[in-house]
Amino acid sequence: MDKLGKALARVVDAYSRQGVCEVCGGTLVFQGCGEYVCEQCGDLSYDDYGKVRRYVETHAGASVTDTAEATGVSQDAIREMIKERKIRIGY
Ligand SMILES: [Zn+2]
Repeated sequence: MDKLGKALARVVDAYSRQGVCEVCGGTLVFQGCGEYVCEQCGDLSYDDYGKVRRYVETHAGASVTDTAEATGVSQDAIREMIKERKIRIGY
């Protein structure tokens, strides 16, 4: 893993990090941007940041409330991501 990858992995530790594949129990490998792929079956999963990021990318103009309801991530956690400029979102 390069320097940037390590820095990103540390950032992601702050969120609900995935570890084990829900489908087969295999090890999840961090892909970047909150995305993980299973070593064994290739299933993709997302931590809180990954879920929020995916949602706002596909729902332009979504509010914090919409995003929280759709992803199950708390509004406080989403506001924290916005504050840290990890995501961009409508208000
Ligand atoms: Zn798997």
